[in-house]
Amino acid sequence: MSVIEEKSTRTKAVQLEKQQLVWHAMKAEQVLEQLQVTAEDGLDLETVTKRQEQYGLNQMTPKKQQHALIRFLQQFHQPLIYILLASSVVTFFLEEYIDAAVIFGVVFINAIIGFVQESKAIEAIDALANSMTARALVVRNGNRHAIDAQELVPGDVVLVQSGDKFPADVRLVKERDLKVDESALTGESVAVEKNTHPVAADNVLGDRFCMGFSSTVVTYGQARGVVVATGDATEVGKIQQSMAGAQNLETPLTIKIKEFSHLLLWAILGLSALVFVIGLIRGESIADTFMVAVALAVGAIPEGLPVAVTIMLALGVSNMAARRAIIRKLVAVETLGSTNVICSDKTGTLTENQMTVQQIAAGGEVYAVTGIGYQPQGSILTNEQPADVPRNKALELCLRAGMLCNESALVEKAGKWTAEGDPTEVALLVSALKAGFQNAKLEREEPRLDTIPFESEYQYMATLHHGHKPFIYLKGSVEAVLERCNSCLLPDGTLAGLNKTAIHKQVDEMAHEGLRVLAFATAAAPEGTSSIDHVSTSSGLTFLGLQGMIDPPRREAMEAVKLCQQAGIDVKMITGDHAVTAAAIAREIGLRGAHENGRLKALTGKELQRYSDAELEEVAENTAVFARVSPDQKLRLVKALQARGKVVAMTGDGVNDGPALKQANIGIAMGITGTDVAKDASDMILTDDNFSSIEGAVEEGRSVFDNLTKFIVWTLPTNLGEGLIVLTAVILGTLLPVQPVQILWVNMTSAVLLGLTLAFEPKEPGIMSRPPRPSSKPILTKELVMRTLLVGALMLLASFGLYLFETQSGSSIEEAQTVATTALVVLESFYLLNCRSLVRPIREVGYFSNMWVYYGIAAMFFFQALFIYVPIMNTLFGSSPLSPPQLVRVFGAGMLLFIIVTIEKQLRLRFASPTDAEA
Ligand code: ADP
Ligand code: MG
Repeated sequence: MSVIEEKSTRTKAVQLEKQQLVWHAMKAEQVLEQLQVTAEDGLDLETVTKRQEQYGLNQMTPKKQQHALIRFLQQFHQPLIYILLASSVVTFFLEEYIDAAVIFGVVFINAIIGFVQESKAIEAIDALANSMTARALVVRNGNRHAIDAQELVPGDVVLVQSGDKFPADVRLVKERDLKVDESALTGESVAVEKNTHPVAADNVLGDRFCMGFSSTVVTYGQARGVVVATGDATEVGKIQQSMAGAQNLETPLTIKIKEFSHLLLWAILGLSALVFVIGLIRGESIADTFMVAVALAVGAIPEGLPVAVTIMLALGVSNMAARRAIIRKLVAVETLGSTNVICSDKTGTLTENQMTVQQIAAGGEVYAVTGIGYQPQGSILTNEQPADVPRNKALELCLRAGMLCNESALVEKAGKWTAEGDPTEVALLVSALKAGFQNAKLEREEPRLDTIPFESEYQYMATLHHGHKPFIYLKGSVEAVLERCNSCLLPDGTLAGLNKTAIHKQVDEMAHEGLRVLAFATAAAPEGTSSIDHVSTSSGLTFLGLQGMIDPPRREAMEAVKLCQQAGIDVKMITGDHAVTAAAIAREIGLRGAHENGRLKALTGKELQRYSDAELEEVAENTAVFARVSPDQKLRLVKALQARGKVVAMTGDGVNDGPALKQANIGIAMGITGTDVAKDASDMILTDDNFSSIEGAVEEGRSVFDNLTKFIVWTLPTNLGEGLIVLTAVILGTLLPVQPVQILWVNMTSAVLLGLTLAFEPKEPGIMSRPPRPSSKPILTKELVMRTLLVGALMLLASFGLYLFETQSGSSIEEAQTVATTALVVLESFYLLNCRSLVRPIREVGYFSNMWVYYGIAAMFFFQALFIYVPIMNTLFGSSPLSPPQLVRVFGAGMLLFIIVTIEKQLRLRFASPTDAEA
């Protein structure tokens, strides 16, 4: 290749790149030509591989996290730390250099621990949130495939429909009523109507109507487009790079705790100031009085609390992930513990979503269909004899319509049948196969010209075909189909009047057995028709028949429902299905609710509409089954339940479920069948769509809350005790039994080594047989406040008492202070054992059911030994080696505390009602 040639190809490449910037100004055909692809067949696999090498994966470089240094510095951005830093500086000027250095050192180490823990929590949550990969429907080699969206390359032809996110930047080549919510990109919340016409090159993003941009959401209609940019090259990829992302680690609980610490802080500052003034009035040196004030501030504030709470919540997140519930927002962990109503989808969540047609009613006859699952082995029977399908035209067309008005696929590979698509539709393919119809043959005889896709709101799907003449097949819920029909087909192929009462009676019979019933209809279309819409299918159709399918309840769901009910959680079913079918399934699953005529009452969307908001509250609370409910009615239901003070978890999968999911206290999206919109709006995603995973998450949520409470009940008495020690010293006018740096030592080491081991405490037995925690209930109940006061007072007694004993018996002041400090540590360690359960004695908890507690105590003792015996520590902390008798007295005090709290628990158990005792 000559130099000149090489140069010319290079300019060509540059031109190409330039052209890529104006895809929206090109005609669709030009774009396809440029990308060397056809809209019908898509790319061939070879080209895909080549382009994957060239362009890389369709994924965005992770969001820029906040700079690590900034996150580290933020660890110092807490009022308490300000106080400590100020103390360190003042101490320095008072020429107490070692104390100044130790205080600063402790603050610094604390910041490092906080930083590391927080980073881990953020990483874990981010990883989980991102672990749900996006899927894309792509046409390659002329076939549709559902692939991981990461594998898309420029030139890929993708299909989207309402509820999907665009998986990459796409130039639209075909669309039908396409509306897209581009707020993620443009901030404009009104959906944009799209078309395929080129626009001016300088149009801004929001006005490029022929483009679909990555991560914007299809709210209506469907489209086919060709990928023009992937990964970081997409518009959102470009924006993402300029934004810093941060996980929000705040929850109501952490906020409450922060507020509590602020309050505490001011109280303590006030007290410290008072102590300082008293000291000065007494004529003590400024340095000494200042150190006393600092000791009070340092001791009384629970430094470890905020970090510990975040860590324990994050641990909850990973436990829930192991049980197939991905937490997207940390707050969900906490809310799950107090959830008292779960509103669940029926299909796929409470049931298997493995549909099998069992009954067909057509032309006045009822047929049974044998066989189970997607294996097309079985037959259509009438009076136990194989039916002659063509003899009943209505039956024949009913089956044909089921096969052709259908978006699913069933393929046989080595004798194994695998299905793709909506199980409701797969079941219809299977029933037609059992009758001997072949998909490919039918499609050749009656090719499809146009489609109105199924949407929950309309409850039907229709297709336009061309046989001898154009005609429509329509299938959907009985209500949706019957309102469009004015005649029905008889077995001999002639038309008759429509007897709606008879049909409804037939539907009722099928629905009573729990069958999901779909109705079928057909209509001739005017010659030359090439498209259909909701208007052209609105009336004048001919009713063909019904197909009823079973969808067995999930076994695990039945058990999970029982557990929830024991746990005081109401389970409600919300479905788009028929009321009678829904009620039959609900009864089988064991839902509890109002009855009507001796049967579980199912409230339909229509009835619901008639209630005022106030009336709905009452009804919503008592009813267990809601059928034919539209997404906006779901929102009303959530609000009604919340108005009654319920904490509501609500599942959803559709495009229009977003508002209800956001409104619910816990919005739960389906990982498998859920649309991207639903997932985005959710707090939690079920990777297996299974109801029992919700129950599992609730259990984990309760456990996290239990353990948090244990931590708080464990940590507060120490702070109280330390504060009391300083105050008592001031009042008695003695020296401080524990120095500020010693208090810091105790608080910093014990929170991590001792307190956090409570996070590994196994679930309390009967965790699912007690009522949900009211969200308004304070963390510390009256009983727990009493215990905190008791233990705080005992800590004061033990530590101060031993200090006085040492000074009286002639030990040095350093020794006495070391004894007092060690007493705090040892008492905390023994009390930790008490805190393993809030109500039960340790013998019931099981001595060895959480070994972490012992490892923690061992580590704590090791560090305390360093504190006592290592010379450098003696210099830093003013500690001094202790003799065995001194240690024995300290341990004696620890054991005494343990015994007293054990007795206190026993007494409470004996005299309190069980619900009171349960914290
Ligand atoms: P659910 O899945 O909870 O039953 P949907 O909103 O998905 O609720 O469905 C509502 C009704 O629409 C169903 O009861 C059925 O009658 C009908 N239907 C469901 N899927 C299809 C489909 N693919 N095509 C036509 N009609 C459908
Ligand atoms: Mg459905």
